[in-house]
Amino acid sequence: MEFEAVIGLEVHAQLLTETKIFCGCSTKFGNKPNSNVCPVCLGHPGVLPVLNKKVVEYAAMMGLATNCTINEKNVFARKNYFYPDLPKGYQTSQFELPICEHGYIEIETNEVKKKIGITRIHMEEDAGKSIHDQGYDTLVDVNRCGVPLIEIVSEPDISSGEEAYQYLTNLKQIITYLGICDGNMEEGSLRCDANISIRPKGETKLGTRTEVKNMNSFRNVQKAIDYEIDRQISLVEDGGKVVQQTLLWNADQNKATAMRGKEEAHDYRYFPCPDLMPVFVSAEWKEEIKKQIPELPKSRKTRFIEELKLPEYDAEVLTQQKEIADYFEEVYLECKDAKLSSNWVMGDVLKIINERKISAKDFPISANNLGKLINLIKSNKISSQIAKDVFPIMLQDDKDPNIIVEEKNLLQITDTSAIEAVIDDVLNSNPKQVEEFKAGKEKVIGFLVGQVMQRTKGKANPKMVNELLRKKLS
Ligand code: ADP
Ligand code: MG
Ligand code: ZN
Repeated sequence: MEFEAVIGLEVHAQLLTETKIFCGCSTKFGNKPNSNVCPVCLGHPGVLPVLNKKVVEYAAMMGLATNCTINEKNVFARKNYFYPDLPKGYQTSQFELPICEHGYIEIETNEVKKKIGITRIHMEEDAGKSIHDQGYDTLVDVNRCGVPLIEIVSEPDISSGEEAYQYLTNLKQIITYLGICDGNMEEGSLRCDANISIRPKGETKLGTRTEVKNMNSFRNVQKAIDYEIDRQISLVEDGGKVVQQTLLWNADQNKATAMRGKEEAHDYRYFPCPDLMPVFVSAEWKEEIKKQIPELPKSRKTRFIEELKLPEYDAEVLTQQKEIADYFEEVYLECKDAKLSSNWVMGDVLKIINERKISAKDFPISANNLGKLINLIKSNKISSQIAKDVFPIMLQDDKDPNIIVEEKNLLQITDTSAIEAVIDDVLNSNPKQVEEFKAGKEKVIGFLVGQVMQRTKGKANPKMVNELLRKKLS
């Protein structure tokens, strides 16, 4: 019997607000444990939460960017459970009326191009953190309590680890373009749980699923899914049955181990939070939120191809991260040459960014100055070769390349008589090669050009050197 896999992903994304979802405490990461707290996020009795407006806007932005409908009426619900890092005893979340529903994200793998449905996106607060490996039994840091999250729940439309990887990559691209989450999975600002089941090919009913947690990279999500699909198929083929449970991925051992039986929604005794009024997203407010959405990666890529006439490959690489695309466009604005800008950004710039593991925002050369360097090449003031020497100098102090070229005396020699003088010199000191050329050994011209370039420290215009040499020799 042939099986197919059915996968749905739940993604938690930490929102980049200054303050928490229901109080004014800072969301800053890395502060002293238990210092970003107040009676509200500690769940003291008698306090009242006040909703952070930015959280609603960010959640709606993500919904609009993923083709969801935005619900006008939003209700917060309490999800009740006990855990040491949840002093309130419940998590304020959304249950029946989430802010966004019925969207999709498009993905493309080598095999398929398809839409992965988004069931819902809802707002909620994060819990604190239990720390188990510091020489105590367990330490609790509640700084993260009340940090705003959105949870993005997909339809079970994903069929492989590879598709899940693509979905997450596109989701991260969208969310970071929006600037509402930093997308860092290692640091936990993006977290993904994978729900996995199998069924005989052709069957329409869903099989029993397991949920795998604890993956800290997209590649690990992919691996964990493929591992779990194989495990379920072997189990069923051997006459066993999949039991609904939660598994933890162990990246060191490349396997998943059972953590606990999986709880159902009714275990949480959800009920509408009596402390929070429903929130209404009016049509006008929705319009305002729409205006905050920047051009998204897909349409930016299309524009780079159609308007800037860039090859698809270039457009894809340049739009992967918003900061890179922004940087590229600024370079282009200065020099008005899309392909040259693209070559420099995809080559020399990305090389440094990757080597130094920095964001394009922290790249030491301003886009303006890189554009000016390209202008120097375009106007024949320097050769591409010399430009490669100027670039590292610019890396040091972001100086205007016009000044560097001036100071270091690197301007290309385009003066005919100056070049001719050097050529005469070279011909006089290489009589043997001149004879060989005259006897028909065409290749020798390369040697002679090289000599001229060497004597001018690479500054002579190579095309002129070639032409003038041939004229003299004929
Ligand atoms: P919960 O995890 O709270 O029980 P849901 O029932 O809403 O939440 O489902 C969560 C995720 O699991 C969704 O992404 C959904 O698409 C996926 N899912 C539900 N049933 C299955 C199944 N049988 N196989 C694979 N994925 C499933
Ligand atoms: Mg779940
Ligand atoms: Zn607080």
